[in-house]
Amino acid sequence: MDFNLTEEQTAILDLTRRFARERIKPHVREYDRDERFPLEIYEQMGPLGLTGGVIPEEYGGAGMDYQTYALMIMELASTCQVMACAASWASGVGGISVLRYGTEEQKKEFLVPLAQGRGPVAFALTETHTGSDVASMRTRAVRDGDHYVLNGTKVWISMVAKARWIITFATLDPAAGRKGITAFLLDPASAGISRSPFKNKVGFRPLESGELVLDNVRVPASSRLGAEGEGFKIAMSSVESGRLSVAARCVGMIGACLELATEYAKTRETFGQPIARRQLIQSKITDMRVAYETARLLVLQAAWKKDSGDRARADTSMAKLYASDALMRVAEDAMQIHGAYGCSDEYEIGRYWRDAKFMQTIEGSNEIHRGLVAEYELGYR
Ligand SMILES: Cc1cc2nc3c(=O)[nH]c(=O)nc-3n(C[C@H](O)[C@H](O)[C@H](O)COP(=O)(O)OP(=O)(O)OC[C@H]3O[C@@H](n4cnc5c(N)ncnc54)[C@H](O)[C@@H]3O)c2cc1C
Repeated sequence: MDFNLTEEQTAILDLTRRFARERIKPHVREYDRDERFPLEIYEQMGPLGLTGGVIPEEYGGAGMDYQTYALMIMELASTCQVMACAASWASGVGGISVLRYGTEEQKKEFLVPLAQGRGPVAFALTETHTGSDVASMRTRAVRDGDHYVLNGTKVWISMVAKARWIITFATLDPAAGRKGITAFLLDPASAGISRSPFKNKVGFRPLESGELVLDNVRVPASSRLGAEGEGFKIAMSSVESGRLSVAARCVGMIGACLELATEYAKTRETFGQPIARRQLIQSKITDMRVAYETARLLVLQAAWKKDSGDRARADTSMAKLYASDALMRVAEDAMQIHGAYGCSDEYEIGRYWRDAKFMQTIEGSNEIHRGLVAEYELGYR
């Protein structure tokens, strides 16, 4: 691996940093407080090439390699992980599923606008009674001539209300387990679809995650993604890219927590000295720096492996697991350094701390990733 940035990478990161500082930072506290996804900011990202990621240029993407893409996501997430998430919609679970399994028509209709920054998209997998155990989903699809009829409820679906299209999963045969699951591309305006974001969430507030109810929704057979029974494979192969993005968001957030904690520790005085002069505080700063460098290396190594054309299942699991656990520890220490002021909305650190917790849950909980890594290591997979 070459750790020097290319000229192109430097230019992309400069642009991303400027965008984050000038267009996102002044507004993030307000839209986080209001639990509102800032479409007006997102819409500025497409024309700058910040939503195209690894999607090839012929499908409206930026054609980046995974390493450049991961660096860009880290940069955005250091200011706002939700806008970094928006930049990853095309290269993450939604877009990659269509790139790999979509027909040419589906790529033109769904992927191209998403890569050009004309999303949002929602990826609707989780159900009330299960998140981790995807194969036991209950949402049903029944074939009816040249349509399918979908019934069921999905929960915790990010961007549920503002999505311009939705990728969802339903089973044609519950007895078939994972082999019955099939993927569909939904028009949110279809009859029988209702969507409602949950309110007063602890973290991820601007992502407007909520409930998607499918009540006798008729979906044309041409909107099925992949073959019947291929849905589980589609979901699981796409999450590999999604996990890399989540891990990169965690690295950006670790960097931000470190910066906020450092600034605060240098200016806050107790007993006649800045708290930064105390060894107990310095020890926390050291742990944060080590966590940042280690998580960043794991993410870049997973990205490098994907760029080399190899599958990176264990690598993306390790990166996501490590980076999100490290982020939680770092955010906790950064909050502690802020003392009572960490509790104030006027200080930014609280938002990172609230969001950090759920990085350990999304795109496969960390318990699931621990199991996966062990199974790869033991040769059980
Ligand atoms: C902010 C936010 C946004 C989200 N956005 C989306 C979205 O856009 N689309 C979507 O489909 N979903 C989304 N989710 C849902 C998320 O993917 C699920 O929450 C996640 O998969 C975990 O599922 P669960 O909450 O049902 O937990 P469960 O699967 O019920 O697990 C509960 C606990 O048990 C542990 N556990 C489960 N199985 C095992 C096991 N075999 N061994 C050991 N421990 C185990 C888990 O790690 C967890 O700690 C979102 C969630 C959040 C919080």
